[in-house]
Amino acid sequence: MSAAFFPQDIIVKKRDGGRLGRDEIEFFARGVADGRFADYQATALLMAIFWRGLDAEETAWLTDAMLRSGEVIDLSDVPGPKVDKHSTGGVGDKVSLILAPLAAACGVNVPMMSGRGLGHTGGTLDKLEAIPGFRVGLEVGEFRAILRRNGLAMIGQTPQVVPADRKLYALRDVTGTVECIPLICASIMSKKLAEGIDSLVLDVKSGRGAFMKRKEDALALARAMVAVGRAAGKPVVAQLTAMDEPLGRCAGHTTEVIESVECLRGRGPADLMEVTYALTGHMLVLGGVARDQADARTRMDAALADGSALGKFRAMCEAQGGDPRVIDDFSRLPTARLRRELRAGADAHGYVAEVDALKCGHAIMALGGGRAAVTDRVDHAVGLSDIIKVGEPVSPGTRLCTIHANDETKAAAAEQMLRSAIRFTPTRPVPVPLVQEVVR
Ligand code: URA
Repeated sequence: MSAAFFPQDIIVKKRDGGRLGRDEIEFFARGVADGRFADYQATALLMAIFWRGLDAEETAWLTDAMLRSGEVIDLSDVPGPKVDKHSTGGVGDKVSLILAPLAAACGVNVPMMSGRGLGHTGGTLDKLEAIPGFRVGLEVGEFRAILRRNGLAMIGQTPQVVPADRKLYALRDVTGTVECIPLICASIMSKKLAEGIDSLVLDVKSGRGAFMKRKEDALALARAMVAVGRAAGKPVVAQLTAMDEPLGRCAGHTTEVIESVECLRGRGPADLMEVTYALTGHMLVLGGVARDQADARTRMDAALADGSALGKFRAMCEAQGGDPRVIDDFSRLPTARLRRELRAGADAHGYVAEVDALKCGHAIMALGGGRAAVTDRVDHAVGLSDIIKVGEPVSPGTRLCTIHANDETKAAAAEQMLRSAIRFTPTRPVPVPLVQEVVR
């Protein structure tokens, strides 16, 4: 590392509201990755950035410096368009499990690196690991070979990719500096750009079950990520979606794998398919295999109807060590010992006004299906299915959801949380649009 800067000077500059230069930001990112920028100095700078912010150019420089702190995967030998999707996370968000095989069946390569669930939100890697034998820890060479062969591979972040983010995220997590738009933007975009993609689709969620509660914050994050993509020469489309109630009718791991397979068989719930079609449609357009969303929809419907999308899911399981027999026999997935139907009480009349996604996420955590710390193990078998949707009619005895549990006490705790998550109203609520806006 060049001796041109001292960390304390950079900290003071940002603390006092100054604008950092590209070389100062590079000095910071490189120093964090190789351990020469001390943790206490890095956290001081993170806090200064939290309060003072970064402008669009500083954010793009930080993203680029973080990206270059590690390996950038070269997928130039994989023919065809390479497009990924990233979601800022929610409850019941199993879109990746449907979208990746669907996009691959339509001719777009999907090199997807995902994360694990943390807190009340679920993670794609954990869901995939509900499939017995499924390996998410592939080496880059195997990842590339499977991508070439099948058009999709879904793995976890390799240790060589963006080491600066690994360090910075761990520091942010324990120093109250996670909720900062430029830092979130640089963290997400550096990892996505390191995948060797041509373009990217983002699902930026806001609402009760999302990381961002307010739509204005989601919009600001979406705009920042699209701008960073543009600065890196990669087209990015960001879709803003509501995350107030769980997406689809299942949340957990096994239950979400089952719902994903049902979607790939053309039997998916309307809200989940609406988000999936919209995001996959953007991928097909960005990848140049569809003219517009209408053309993309025709291609997606064909891939669902002729079984090719489900075939891609099967091929992915086979290539990554997962038992493909689960697709035709769900009993091969981890199954919970107890199944409890939660039913509406005697006072339930009218319609469902709210199914609070955050409380549903907490109920899944209470069942053992979530992770409070990155090192926690999740129980893949537990979760929710048959979740009632906002706007559906209710009367005494209507099923509100089914709880899958491995422990009586945990099932009782989840039941109590779920009762407080679901509210009724005498009049049919006005539907809130799920797909709210697109930023290009
Ligand atoms: N997800 C990330 O990868 N990074 C953040 O900073 C926040 C969410």
